[in-house]
Amino acid sequence: MSQKELDIPTQLASRIDELALSVACQPPLGESAKEALKTEIKALLKAQNAQIVAHFYVDADLQALAEETGGVVADSLEMANFGAQSDADTIVVCGVRFMGETAKMLSPEKTILMPDLGATCSLDLGCPAEEFAEFCAEHPDHTVVVYANTSAEVKAIADWVVTSGNALQIVNHLKEQGKKIIWAPDRHLGDWIEKQTGIEMLRWQGHCIVHDEFKTFELEAMKKEHPNAKVLVHPESPADVIALADVVGSTKVLINAVKTMDDQEFIVATDLGIFYKMQQLAPNKKLLVAPTTDREAACKSCAHCPWMAMNGLQNLADCLKNRTGEVLVDEAVRVKALGSLNKMLEFSRNAGLVKK
Ligand code: SF4
Repeated sequence: MSQKELDIPTQLASRIDELALSVACQPPLGESAKEALKTEIKALLKAQNAQIVAHFYVDADLQALAEETGGVVADSLEMANFGAQSDADTIVVCGVRFMGETAKMLSPEKTILMPDLGATCSLDLGCPAEEFAEFCAEHPDHTVVVYANTSAEVKAIADWVVTSGNALQIVNHLKEQGKKIIWAPDRHLGDWIEKQTGIEMLRWQGHCIVHDEFKTFELEAMKKEHPNAKVLVHPESPADVIALADVVGSTKVLINAVKTMDDQEFIVATDLGIFYKMQQLAPNKKLLVAPTTDREAACKSCAHCPWMAMNGLQNLADCLKNRTGEVLVDEAVRVKALGSLNKMLEFSRNAGLVKK
């Protein structure tokens, strides 16, 4: 194994794929059932001084409800910032587990609920804290930079936490200080950051099961069928897919591209939950999902994260009504992780990446 790349064990990689394929999505609801649940949720939010903090990848109904009720729909950076600044007593995180943990670590006095605590992330699963701690201990002269898509325990080992919305700026900042860097866990985002910054990092080899599935050959064919379409790619995608992009960036960057570019057609290589916000901001533009299958392999995600899809109106109503799905983080872990989380937020606020 090269020092530069630490592969995750094959057994763990297969287990992650198995888990992703076994996830049960929320059953579809009829319009009247949806309306009844929305009314119930709005009343519960009000009665409990609660707010919804939703990710761009969850169901459109949840995103709309978060906006209607004074919550937020955002990327993981803005979700963390919003939760920390909110004066709600309860935050309901519609997203995946690490987002709930981040909210709890930043706001220990608030109750953090999630519709389903089983909603995880392949990047989080692919970076077990114990193995990662051993790897870091072998390189004590390195600054440890971890993506937000990690457990609270992994964040507690880190010097810096980053998201795709600030990773470039933070790594550049560390490069200017002459730091050597350990990067975890996303291999493609790490590779893209290396190319953008010119720095070499020791990289953990985790992957996102959604972005890892975008296919170059099929994307090239789609580009030929839609010669005027611009290609938008999230940097958790493989390097050869990124090479075909007109715009590469975080969810926020991709949404902004659809809104501000003059082009009318876009091929989008990220989770299709993002179409809600893109279509809201640019209702007349045509959006196409980048291809995720080829002739040989079965699709594991079809451009939609199975864990994000565990969030629905029914379990959102249930968690508020029954006060279930509370996210708890061990206090010693929280205190250790808080330094790197706060550093990230302070850096992002000073750089104008999120609201002060
Ligand atoms: S889309 Fe990928 S990175 Fe995001 S939560 Fe799902 S598995 Fe994790």
